[in-house]
Amino acid sequence: MFDKILIANRGEIACRVARTCKRLGVRTVAVYSEADANARHVLLCDEAYLLGPAPSRESYLRGELILEMARQSGAQAIHPGYGFLSENADFAAACEAAGIVFIGPPVGAIRAMGSKSAAKAIMAEAAVPLVPGYHGENQDYATLEQAAQAIGYPVLIKASAGGGGKGMRVVETAEQLKNGIAAAKREAAAAFGDDRVLVEKYLLKPRHIEIQVFADRHGNAVYLFERDCSIQRRHQKVLEEAPAPGISADRRRQMGEAAVAAARTIGYVGAGTVEFIAQQDGAFFFMEMNTRLQVEHPVTEMITGQDLVEWQLRVAAGEPLPCSQEHLVINGHAFEARIYAEDPERDFLPATGRLEYLRTPAEGPHVRIDTGVSQGDEVSMHYDPMIAKLIVWDRDRDNALRRLRQSLAEYQVVGVTTNLTFLSAVAAHPAFAAGDLNTGFIEQHRAELLPDKQPVSDRILALATLGRLLKVNAEAAGRAARSGDPWSPWHSTTGWHLNEEPRHTLYFRDGERDLAVTVHYRADHSLLDLPGGRMTVRGELLPNGNDILADLDGVRLHATLVRQGDELIVLTQGESHRLTLRNPLTEGMEDEVDSGSLVSPMPGAIIAVLVEAGQKVKPGDPLMILEAMKMEHTITAPYPGQVDSIRYQVGEQVQEGVELLVISEE
Ligand code: ADP
Ligand code: ADP
Ligand code: MG
Repeated sequence: MFDKILIANRGEIACRVARTCKRLGVRTVAVYSEADANARHVLLCDEAYLLGPAPSRESYLRGELILEMARQSGAQAIHPGYGFLSENADFAAACEAAGIVFIGPPVGAIRAMGSKSAAKAIMAEAAVPLVPGYHGENQDYATLEQAAQAIGYPVLIKASAGGGGKGMRVVETAEQLKNGIAAAKREAAAAFGDDRVLVEKYLLKPRHIEIQVFADRHGNAVYLFERDCSIQRRHQKVLEEAPAPGISADRRRQMGEAAVAAARTIGYVGAGTVEFIAQQDGAFFFMEMNTRLQVEHPVTEMITGQDLVEWQLRVAAGEPLPCSQEHLVINGHAFEARIYAEDPERDFLPATGRLEYLRTPAEGPHVRIDTGVSQGDEVSMHYDPMIAKLIVWDRDRDNALRRLRQSLAEYQVVGVTTNLTFLSAVAAHPAFAAGDLNTGFIEQHRAELLPDKQPVSDRILALATLGRLLKVNAEAAGRAARSGDPWSPWHSTTGWHLNEEPRHTLYFRDGERDLAVTVHYRADHSLLDLPGGRMTVRGELLPNGNDILADLDGVRLHATLVRQGDELIVLTQGESHRLTLRNPLTEGMEDEVDSGSLVSPMPGAIIAVLVEAGQKVKPGDPLMILEAMKMEHTITAPYPGQVDSIRYQVGEQVQEGVELLVISEE
């Protein structure tokens, strides 16, 4: 085994590799870009080398420099993770030439599988079933057109050098072929510097089922069963599981053996994944082989009890596989949800920003979190927008799915738009629970998975209001304690007014909607006037200052409130709602006064009361005149209604922010 290795990657995979190294007593060397100077992977490793500026080209893709650092640090091997240099045959060859072990397959195997077309040709030789299609060298239009015709539409045009779902076009009819090929070639040239494409039958409602394989240098090769990765957007995976639901033991063995045969054909060593596309009837076809550790490898680890990074290290160090096929068994079921900084509402567009608030479910035998970020970190435009992988395990699929829903609900991220709500919607979908999977699942169930935004509920508004009250209380208590006179009336938090019913109004905005919640303080609870009616609330702010224990009309629940400027984010039961806190006093005060705010805009004296209780008013009717700083302000009616009560009389002094009178809206 190695004493020291360099991890040529960043983010969650660098952290994940470091974790196994730590357990095995292998020292680790990190590399990092300027943007990652304080990143988790840097802190987790024993030493770290700066590569250069943030862009990957100038940092994580600099193979020569990384090799130099491996030499300098005395690392005996390099783990490339996934992405970046992991499938770069030239880099693997350079490692070999430098006498540093590349923790991955032999250069020849990377090259053989680097082109999807060449890989298919090799697999055809090995009698691995292929999707009907053309994967030849000839790229002229007539050849491709003829191939498409022979296959029958719809067809899929794929970049031979493709990966990450890029350079792929579905072509439905002969008329679309020319444009489809041109588009795929353009994208392929831009992304991979190679515009060669292949043509395949486009299967309808297929499943993506892949087999984890492993081989050593002693002629042993095994499969560690399958993963179902059918839940995809833009041909990219978001939710994976193992084992694949509904697959028979026979089919599992056939696919496993086909994958091992594929690996043997190319003299494979190390971890690899053979991706198949499977029809609903169970027929399966080779798609491609990924010659590296896969993002979703943890689900395999959870059901087999093996550590695949440990296997990689042992195999790379020349040891035999830790386990033979007969000893590998499936235990239970695992899911992985990829938590991305992206906006499902905007076609899953990647998002950036600072992780202002981050709380994850507790890890344990059932829940694992692979992540490379901490609260306060920036999700930048330079790298993959994946924030974390949430992996859950239980004895069967139903129980594991419940864990998944629960853990997703407990995952809290504020500051960056994420796909968490979307993932929860998938996990809650009956078709998903039924294991009715296909790669078009997201499109097919789009309406339910991405429902139109609903106005915020009274429950959420009540939590927001209660949260604000508890926070204000806590702050006032703190001030009172500091002021030396805890009984000063200025520290009173039960409303702003002592001689009548204490009440106060909080203003929020939910999207386009302006909302007001009036709070009536009682001895040990408050009554809230919410859009849907009155609610009795009480609660407690927990010592962390973010969480509240609430009792809403006798229903107890837990919520987290995070303040970001004038935004208040309410997190509860897996939902996340963003409300804007409005202060009618500070936002366009003039306007508010003119349009008839019922709140005193500043400290002053009442010099006239122009209405009586019970009187009907129209918008704009003058109600009261307040004198402050030698200026007169007329308080006017904001909406038609009836004057319910007048809270101050002529000559009284009022504080800023107090409610001067109450008008019930008509
Ligand atoms: P998996 O994602 O399961 O590892 P794929 O066959 O989908 O397998 O390939 C994804 C590979 O491409 C990974 O190495 C990943 O790092 C990389 N990748 C995926 N999406 C992107 C992206 N948007 N930009 C750059 N690299 C990506
Ligand atoms: P990548 O290298 O980008 O991972 P793949 O060949 O693995 O490319 O395909 C990615 C995804 O595209 C698959 O998981 C599947 O959802 C879809 N796909 C690929 N080939 C086909 C096909 N012949 N028919 C239908 N869908 C396909
Ligand atoms: Mg793939």
